[in-house]
Amino acid sequence: MLSFWEKQHLLQYDYIIAGSGIVGLSAAISLKELQPHARVLVLEKEILPTGASTKNAGFACIGSLTELLADLKLMPATEVVALLQLRRNGLQLLRQRIGDANMDYRERGSYELISDAEEPALKRMEEVNSLLQPVLGGPAFKQINNRFGFNPQYVKTLVQNNYEGELNTGKMMRCLIDIAISKGVEIKTGCPINNIEDTGVGVHVTVKDITFHCRGLAICTNAFTRELLPDVPLQPGRGQVLMTSVIPNLPFRGIFHMEEGYYYFRELQGRVLFGGGRNLDFATEATTEFDLNQQIQQQLENRLHNIILPAHSFTITERWTGIMAFGDTRKPLIRKYSPNIALGVRMGGMGVAIGSIVGEQLANLLLQ
Ligand SMILES: Cc1cc2nc3c(=O)[nH]c(=O)nc-3n(C[C@H](O)[C@H](O)[C@H](O)COP(=O)(O)OP(=O)(O)OC[C@H]3O[C@@H](n4cnc5c(N)ncnc54)[C@H](O)[C@@H]3O)c2cc1C
Repeated sequence: MLSFWEKQHLLQYDYIIAGSGIVGLSAAISLKELQPHARVLVLEKEILPTGASTKNAGFACIGSLTELLADLKLMPATEVVALLQLRRNGLQLLRQRIGDANMDYRERGSYELISDAEEPALKRMEEVNSLLQPVLGGPAFKQINNRFGFNPQYVKTLVQNNYEGELNTGKMMRCLIDIAISKGVEIKTGCPINNIEDTGVGVHVTVKDITFHCRGLAICTNAFTRELLPDVPLQPGRGQVLMTSVIPNLPFRGIFHMEEGYYYFRELQGRVLFGGGRNLDFATEATTEFDLNQQIQQQLENRLHNIILPAHSFTITERWTGIMAFGDTRKPLIRKYSPNIALGVRMGGMGVAIGSIVGEQLANLLLQ
């Protein structure tokens, strides 16, 4: 039972954001930058942000050569270039907002492992470089000979990407929360939104049996969006991750891609973070459940032992999963759902790169 005071003063906001991942926090920050006096509330279902933003690999990436070639099969070249521009703009805004030192942003090398299966991609490297040149200002990819001790039976060569970096995901999210709070954004956690209604002049947003009111609502629930809005076209996709113990004399640093981006690994504080393998079992991984898939985890371990670290011994100290959202195309969904509700969802495997700029676009959509 709510009091008169609560109804009058604690339930009214200018803007409400559903979800406190990178997109939700970025949208909230952008709203406060555009309208400093607006009351902005972020409602987060769990105690921590619990989707992909605190679970990812921290690649500040624009895409590997084979990933971009796969994109070119799915989308026209103009859309691939537009997505690249979005990634560049998103990373620029993220770095400007947080500051490189505050999230350990570094450019220590980015590489793709090329096996026999990927060798045909090398022939198209110059074509892709020319396509991306207007956005990047220089050639993205070049073939190099260093193989960092990877198994030569599998890794025939490497392609270096000159435009990618890495960051500490935990520090990035900590900073985004701190920036949002410092600008006066309210964040309420443990608040699963269970109903929303656009009344034409505003939106009712219900959490359990409490209904908040706002002028505009941004949906930043990514993979979980269909629990609220079943007609939004997206599919969840779970990502499996593991991490090794500290490996003495680890022969590489930086970030690494394999097989069209379906596998990725990086050095982190002397350990290796390795993730991916969704392509081994798309059907099982199209879920919003956070369980480990033992079969994929085992495949990741096998690849670490056989391809990436054949000459090193290590143990697996951490395992976790995160949930992404995908669509028929790689383009994120940034649009009005109804007059006062805007969607910023379907970030695929690139939300670190595009999340900030998607948040800014959402804020502008709500203010229109
Ligand atoms: C293992 C893994 C590795 C990845 N690696 C990279 C990478 O290296 N580089 C990169 O660019 N991207 C990477 N990604 C993708 C990136 O993490 C995502 O694209 C991005 O985090 C999506 O952000 P988001 O804010 O849209 O969604 P999320 O981070 O999923 O946030 C959505 C939030 O909404 C909340 N929510 C859901 N339903 C409700 C509700 N009803 N009410 C209130 N709140 C709700 C959830 O609890 C969650 O906190 C990776 C993802 C995974 C899983």
